[in-house]
Amino acid sequence: MGKIYVVGLGPGADMQMTMEAKAAVKQCGIIVGYTVYVDLVKEEYPDKVFLTTPMTQEVKRCQMAFEEAQKGQDVAMICSGDAGIYGMAGLMLEVGKEYPEIEVEIVPGITAANGGAAVLGAPLMHDFAVISLSDLLTPWEKIEKRVKAAAMADFVICLYNPSSRKRKDYLKKACEMMLEYKSGDTVCGTVRNIGRDGEESQIMTLSRLKDTEVDMFTTVFIGNEQTIEINGKMVTPRGYRNV
Ligand code: SAH
Repeated sequence: MGKIYVVGLGPGADMQMTMEAKAAVKQCGIIVGYTVYVDLVKEEYPDKVFLTTPMTQEVKRCQMAFEEAQKGQDVAMICSGDAGIYGMAGLMLEVGKEYPEIEVEIVPGITAANGGAAVLGAPLMHDFAVISLSDLLTPWEKIEKRVKAAAMADFVICLYNPSSRKRKDYLKKACEMMLEYKSGDTVCGTVRNIGRDGEESQIMTLSRLKDTEVDMFTTVFIGNEQTIEINGKMVTPRGYRNV
């Protein structure tokens, strides 16, 4: 019986992968993943067998991993960032109910939130909320409720999946909701292609963010009341000076 590792590769390739993640991928003969992520690692591991399924075929992708492990091979199910944050770790454990004899180990990775935060400066120094704007798996009403609640409670907010071809105006809508509770001057940041070629970041106000177009390779950060810009970096004070 093989073992399954559910591995977060980090936001970019290689440099932001943990040593544990590298060791897990190295030890597995079979690598399973979403086509895009498999392409990211394929060149580096020419001796592996790669199995992919497109988006929306996630359950099948998990079953494939378990079936290969049943045949005796160690299998790495790879995800970008952290596998347990909008990744495949949960579904793997759910599908794994049918395969109790197969051991599953989750290997953590750097997620887009802390990868992007490091690019911008230190925006997540205080309480923060992570919200995905994708309504593929979550009803939009629930997303609205969460965005409003997080804004009302003055969390720093980190938005994943801020846009797609079908959801061009979702970031604008989210900003409009946040503007009901947050000032238009709130310091915000966007980071595109974290850890990858073409990494780029911008710092701007919430009012400007509202009219900014981003794509699905971007993570968006909205500061809290205290967040400031220092020498081009986005900083949320931890509050040490106030103690
Ligand atoms: N499991 C991943 C998240 C997958 S959801 C993680 O932990 O990071 C996909 C969303 O994550 C994207 O729409 C984007 O908002 C964010 N993201 C993932 N990788 C990114 C990168 N390299 N640069 C910028 N944003 C990224």
